[in-house]
Amino acid sequence: MPTGSHPAARRIFGAPLRYVQGPGALSETGPMAAALGPHALLVGDAFVLDMVGPAVTGSCQPAGVQVTPLLFAGEITPAEIERLVAAARVLPADVVIAAGGGKGIDAGKAVAHHLRVPVITLPTIASNDAPTSKIYVVYDEQHRLLKVEHMPCNPHAVIVDTALIARAPRKLLLAGIGDAISKKFEVAQCHAAQGPNIFGGLGTRAALALADLCFETLLAHADGAVAALERQSPDDSLEAIVEASVLLSGLCFENGGLSIAHSMTRGLSALPGTAYELHGLQVAYGTMVQWHLENRPPSFMADMRAFYRRIGLPLNLQQLGLPRTPTDVDIDTLATLTLTAPHMRNFDRVLKVQDLAQAIQALEAVPL
Ligand SMILES: [Zn+2]
Repeated sequence: MPTGSHPAARRIFGAPLRYVQGPGALSETGPMAAALGPHALLVGDAFVLDMVGPAVTGSCQPAGVQVTPLLFAGEITPAEIERLVAAARVLPADVVIAAGGGKGIDAGKAVAHHLRVPVITLPTIASNDAPTSKIYVVYDEQHRLLKVEHMPCNPHAVIVDTALIARAPRKLLLAGIGDAISKKFEVAQCHAAQGPNIFGGLGTRAALALADLCFETLLAHADGAVAALERQSPDDSLEAIVEASVLLSGLCFENGGLSIAHSMTRGLSALPGTAYELHGLQVAYGTMVQWHLENRPPSFMADMRAFYRRIGLPLNLQQLGLPRTPTDVDIDTLATLTLTAPHMRNFDRVLKVQDLAQAIQALEAVPL
């Protein structure tokens, strides 16, 4: 989604000012916030405020930063944003510290955006690439996507404490891997189609290289990271996967653009069961559809299916939550809605409902 009109050939790259990752990294919050002023608002839901509040306050106090918690109710609707912003406006705030999963981070971004102050993000899970980006997503009361808002800048800092991430459920890490695995292929398609990135410009060579690195990292380290999560103990593999899922994946989608895999989330959000599945798992399935449409060789598809099966990513719609064998109507709905996504333009050919439906049917027909 472009943020403005730029001359067609302008290349743009944006990123957070600082990225810090490692066990105990929350202790960096105070010094980072202190550079912005003495008053910080900490936005998160009740669970997250309990989890990170003491460490954030313990890091901020010695740095001369006073932290005021602001309780997020859990869903990012226009009414909830209005409530949070009204509460925030009567408090001194030089910076917002946004903590949590995707929604908590987005709630903090929304408050910072309305207050016109910088945001520091503290992801407590690695299930998506929201922490590094300048966008946040607003939903209606029925959990339908309402709009994507853009902050003027990316976060001032992203602080990822892998001691916290190592205690998260396995499914959340898998979602992070799913959200990241599409990027090499979506960025390549967007680049070839000369499509816009999230800054409204063309992607850079850096974006292409980061997308390749993201995919290589996932293949090399996913098994080790899943094992580290079972031990609840960060190691080099978990650090590599967190970097791929949070930093690389975020830089890739904002700077390289998106294509079919993310467009599929529009259709998947309308089917029973798949609608409430984690974004990253929807993207993992969408990536399989994109590979099929790219006519990837059977050996590549077999390798990827083996990878998905081994670590636990969804191989068909039922594994993604659909409570029945998909009907022709299900597949038609999925294909029709997916085609309405603007990122569908970033592909090597114009696709029709029938092309997409055939790709989905072919994937669904492969034995597990
Ligand atoms: Zn995504």
